[in-house]
Amino acid sequence: MPRFVQPVPALPDVYADDSVLRSWLQRLLGDEGFAAAEGRLKTLAADVMGPLRRAHAIAEAHTPVLHRYDGWGARVDRVEVSVGWETLRVAAAQHAMVALPYLSEARERWGAAARIVQHALLHLYGPESATFTCPVAMADGAAALLSRTDVDSEVREAWLPRLLSTDPAVAITSGQWMTESQGGSDVGRASTVALPAADGSWRIQGEKWFCSAIDSAVAVVLARPHGAGKGSRTLAPFLIPRYAADSPLAGFTAAPESPAPGLRLHRLKDKLGTRAVPTAEVGIRDAYALPLGDPGGGGLARMMTLVTVTRLHNAAAAAGGMRRGLAYARAYAGTRSVADGRLATNPLHRATLAGLAVDAQAAFALAAHCFELLGRVEVSGDRAAEAWLRLVAPLAKLATGKLAVASASEFLECFGGAGYVEDTGIPRLLRDAQVLPIWEGTTNVLAVDVLRAISNDPGLGEAFIARIDEATAQASTLWIAGAVDGLRAARYTLMDLLPAAAADPRAESVVAGARDLALTMAYALACVLLVEHATATGDQPTKIAAELWGRSRLTADEIAGDAHRSFDILCG
Ligand SMILES: Cc1cc2nc3c(=O)[nH]c(=O)nc-3n(C[C@H](O)[C@H](O)[C@H](O)COP(=O)(O)OP(=O)(O)OC[C@H]3O[C@@H](n4cnc5c(N)ncnc54)[C@H](O)[C@@H]3O)c2cc1C
Repeated sequence: MPRFVQPVPALPDVYADDSVLRSWLQRLLGDEGFAAAEGRLKTLAADVMGPLRRAHAIAEAHTPVLHRYDGWGARVDRVEVSVGWETLRVAAAQHAMVALPYLSEARERWGAAARIVQHALLHLYGPESATFTCPVAMADGAAALLSRTDVDSEVREAWLPRLLSTDPAVAITSGQWMTESQGGSDVGRASTVALPAADGSWRIQGEKWFCSAIDSAVAVVLARPHGAGKGSRTLAPFLIPRYAADSPLAGFTAAPESPAPGLRLHRLKDKLGTRAVPTAEVGIRDAYALPLGDPGGGGLARMMTLVTVTRLHNAAAAAGGMRRGLAYARAYAGTRSVADGRLATNPLHRATLAGLAVDAQAAFALAAHCFELLGRVEVSGDRAAEAWLRLVAPLAKLATGKLAVASASEFLECFGGAGYVEDTGIPRLLRDAQVLPIWEGTTNVLAVDVLRAISNDPGLGEAFIARIDEATAQASTLWIAGAVDGLRAARYTLMDLLPAAAADPRAESVVAGARDLALTMAYALACVLLVEHATATGDQPTKIAAELWGRSRLTADEIAGDAHRSFDILCG
């Protein structure tokens, strides 16, 4: 009897197949802007489905190695990465993954919406990039920080062009060294210190516990200037050129062989996922550093410019991964047979996949909204968008992180045993998703951050309720009953919780309920965004997603039957 071999599912075109992405782009960019972006996106999609998918597999199979000494015994602390990782680095530069929203031609063409185009690029590139999205995120965060007018122009002019270069021979990425072993969430415990040197530069001493993309040419390091008081507010960001200690501007090479003096890589982390990303524990011993802004004040606020950007990238990675996982699971359902025929015709499996499609749409809406706001802040100096983003960035990051892990677990299950076997490439979805709710703020830490945002600006709570009310009216006009009911239920809950949080964000009951509050807000916001998109476009899949999302996430209603019936629309 011939041995059965399951046919490998044919994976769909990552761009052509993504009707959700295209629908949002069309609305947010307008017809002309959309037409101008399509060429770029199709080219990237073709690369993703060819060389980048292969590079991703190579990078995952050949994880980085730390060589602390050379053959003669000299300390070199050199990290060897795979050719796959290098291919992904080159592609990130060429496709302007970091640079796009800063490029003058992109800003002329798309204005504030250049960030929307960048989000689309990340959405396509991220899921099969062996998490090269991590250095991309940190490089973007560093670029945003260096773009601030309160950062010394000489430092900006020296390093920003390299972070924004689309020439792989010149382009660099950045690390972001904040976490210390005594405290990642509570950076105020930092013991890394910065001391001024005679030449105007600084020297840094300390230990950093989690330094991802340690092969990056520079790192933004959070340190306490000598003599500054305790706590987080006195911390300041510094730039450490990783590979050129004394003469960073002249002596820089894009493909360095050994790190700058003053840096010791103790070891690489043996991580659950994101295995292609070299993440190190670093000893900083009198390392040369340049202050990013006045070390004497406002450093934490400057660092938050970087962190906000990386949080948004986190949301983009979550939403992109959910969409790709869905595409894979759906492709498999089309080829795998079970008791009653193909999985794709089985009502229970269809309901499962359709539910995942709804979650993926909601996650995409949250991430897209954040990138839209960021563009308005950066390009138009929109203060209202800035205030709103202060609330929405942690909401989007925490909700999409949680959704991504739950979805990834389901995607694995959709493949049965094959989903648990490493060389199918499927288990990675879950391993890699698990970092999303951890780094750049765990769910709880972000929930507390949301409390802070609400109490610092009580107008945000009122604006949030107003937005729910508008969307409820829109949903009612469109007859999206599930969204109407869901938004009403969320409003009812939030009318109690928001004033209490604004009044005393440190009250025990408020802190204990912070996660529930944040998730309710994030789910309600996703519903609002879906309704707004459906109203603006009449898009049928979005209407259905708003209906099912409102029911499943805001009123805990059963959606399986309707999800099954909507499978072709939601997963098509
Ligand atoms: C793969 C990976 C890559 C990373 N890369 C980097 C990097 O490049 N640079 C960098 O700086 N860091 C990096 N990190 C570190 C990451 O940012 C921290 O692990 C994270 O911020 C949590 O800090 P911690 O590990 O010290 O945990 P802790 O802060 O000790 O948290 C432990 C638990 O306490 C909870 N908790 C903490 N504070 C509160 C609070 N106020 N209220 C309620 N609950 C709370 C948390 O939710 C968590 O569940 C990386 C982590 C991972 C996993």
